[in-house]
Parts: sequence; C-alpha cells; structure tokens
Amino acid sequence: MRRLGFALLAALFLAGGLAAQEPSLIHAGRLLDVRTGKVHADQGLLLKEGRVAAVGPWSQVLAAAPKGARVLDLSGQMVLPGLIEAHTHVLLQGNRFKQDYADQILKESIPARTLRAAAAARSALSWGFTTLRDLGTEGAGYADVDLKKAIEAGVVPGPRLFVAGKAFSATGTYPLQDYAWELDLPSGVRVVDGVEAIRLAVRDEVRRGADWVKVYVDRAAYLGGDGRLRTQTNYRPEELKAFVEEAHRLGKRTSAHVKGWDGIDAALTAGFDTLEHADGFTDDLLDRAVKQGAFWCPTIYAGIWVADGRGPLGHEFPKILAAAFRKGLAKGVKIALGGDAGAFPWTENPAKELALMVDRGMTPLQAIQAGTVVAADLLGMKDLGTLEPGAHADLVALPEDPLRDITALQRIKTVLKAGEVVRQDP
Ligand SMILES: [Zn+2]
Repeated sequence: MRRLGFALLAALFLAGGLAAQEPSLIHAGRLLDVRTGKVHADQGLLLKEGRVAAVGPWSQVLAAAPKGARVLDLSGQMVLPGLIEAHTHVLLQGNRFKQDYADQILKESIPARTLRAAAAARSALSWGFTTLRDLGTEGAGYADVDLKKAIEAGVVPGPRLFVAGKAFSATGTYPLQDYAWELDLPSGVRVVDGVEAIRLAVRDEVRRGADWVKVYVDRAAYLGGDGRLRTQTNYRPEELKAFVEEAHRLGKRTSAHVKGWDGIDAALTAGFDTLEHADGFTDDLLDRAVKQGAFWCPTIYAGIWVADGRGPLGHEFPKILAAAFRKGLAKGVKIALGGDAGAFPWTENPAKELALMVDRGMTPLQAIQAGTVVAADLLGMKDLGTLEPGAHADLVALPEDPLRDITALQRIKTVLKAGEVVRQDP
C-alpha cells in the first residue's frame, strides 16, 4: 500500500505540478558512496526540509528518527545521488543538419520552443537528472531563465537549472548565416564584438538571469598538416579575456565552446573555467588544462549523433575525440558528464553518454563521479552530487548495479528531488 501511495503521489506531481508529500526516511538496500566507490548495505537516510539530515546503518537512522516518520522503502535497490548533466540545451530538439537548427529558429516561436523545453526538463528529471547546466538557448532569448524560475516555483517539474541565457559569438561567426545579404535574420547567439561592448554585454546577461557566460570561441575546423585538429578563433585574445574577467568579477563562471587546437589554446589562455567538446585536445593542451584546473565536457554522444550533418570531418571528429579522451583521462583532466543533449533530441536519454565514457576508458565509478561529484565541483555546488549530511536530497535508485553495468543508469526506477518523490516505478 505504501509503495502504491508514493507512485500515486509521484503521478500527481508529474501530472499537475502538485507538491508531493515528502518521505522523511529512506531505507536503501545498497547505498553508493560516489567519492570512494564503496557500496554500503542496508542504509538509512533521514531527510529534512529537502536535504539529507543523517545517513548511516538503517537500524541506527531508524532509531534516531522521529516516531511515525514516513518511510520510502528502497531496500531492493541501489541508491546514489541524482545525476548532474553539465552540458545541455533544453530549448533545442536535435540539430543533425543545418536545416534542423534553422527550422527551430525560423519556424517555431519562442513560446512554442519553451513548451518543448518544459517537456525536455520533465523527461530529464524522470531519467534521474536532478540538475542540468544548460549552455545557451540558441535563439530563444532568456526562456531558460523563465523555465528555471517556473521549476523553482513548482509550476512545472524539472531539474535544478543553471543557465547561460544567450551564448556569445562574434559578428559573422554563427548561424543563421549564408542567407541573402539583405535579410535581417535572427541569430542563435548574442553577437558582440570589442572589449568594452563585451564587458557591457556580460553585465546585461547577468542582469537578465544568466548563471554562466558561454562563448563560442572557435569554428571552421580542419585537419592541419601536422595532424592536429585546427580551427579559426572567433575573438582576439583581449576580447576573450574581457568575457572571463567581467564574468568572474560578477561571481559567474565561464564556458568555452572549442573544437580545435587554436580554440582550446585561446580559451585556456583567457582562463575559461570549462571547455566544451574540445575534440582537438593534444598533450600540451591537456597538461595546461590540468595545471589550470579547467573542466572538460567531451560531448561524445552529440558528436556521434550529428556526424552525418557535419561535412567531410563529421565522422572523423568522434575518432579524434576518443583518442583525446583517453589521453585526458590518463593525465587527470577533470572530466564532467556533458553530452550536449539538445544537439541530439530529448527523446534520447542523456545517460547514454556515461556508457560512451566507459567505452573510452573510464571505469563505471569514474563515469558516475563525472555525473555527480565532478559536475557539482564544476558548478561550484558543494551540496549537490553527494548524499552526505547537508546535501540536497536529490537521489536516484535502481535494482541493478551500475558499477557492473553502466547502462543500468538508463533504467533508473526511482527519482527524488529535494526530498520529493518525482518518479517511482513499481
Ligand atoms: Zn552545446
């Protein structure tokens, strides 16, 4: 009866945005400590006001809990922290080909795209992603800020969102392009050039609710004669520095879209906090990333998914990236889970990225860490990505063991966010 009750509450929550009644005790058959990889059997979690108040052996936590506390029985499942996806676009629904991208910007209104984004957020949460870093609306203004606020207010279900608003690129470097010159078309980014204009634009983004400053640092990849993946940079070094300085001055972090050697070099020189894609990472650049403490979201799945639509190099990128990934892993670069969901459609579970990371050399535990503690560190959030006392009670549970089979994380059965059951399969 109790299980049925929770399922009903979860269904009500997902259907109508009603606040589900919170369990205050969780009985975990197995609990994964994502920092150490240790699995502790028969554990209890005491929840209070959306956070973990205590964790330990079930008998002890139960004895210390208030009488009559509501128990969520997960004794047949493994419990771990909710997953964090550090590179998504909830306002995009897949763009394998150039036209897919243009169609979304030209044929769908921003309200229509926002409705789809709300559905994407609901899917992400039900798959176990309790937090997303969403890196740019791609022409949908600051709809990500609105969605974040709607989720926080309980209007629609979804993960915690850290958003970038409009990403930045320089004049003539980002779609929509190659249309008749007399047309004044919308852009997928906020176009800005020059140091002073950049400083002002960063302030304005932050004013409108951006948590992150995202910059398209390079484009036009080609294979250089030296075998490196080369690119053209979109900005001069002093312009890139202006983005980083102004964001940091305002207490915000910076994300650099980079594909090839030149872009990665420029982003590292400017001091960006996170590098996205970075297929063209070489030993020298990886060493610099380690030294600077920069994070890397490799976006493996997106690279594979869009390959057909990315010209002659489309199918080369995933191979180049796989080699770079193995090197980066060996050197100890901080790799966070970031698959670029939105570049592939939201009908696909972003947890597929975890399996690809394992295929390319990570242990299942390392992949889980990339999607929990490392991603939380990237966000600067000490109370996410763990189930230690004081952390947000964001957790997932499943009957299988993801340390044996990482694809099990595509089959999560139970999801709680801030201590509320948002999914519970029978
Ligand atoms: Zn992206």
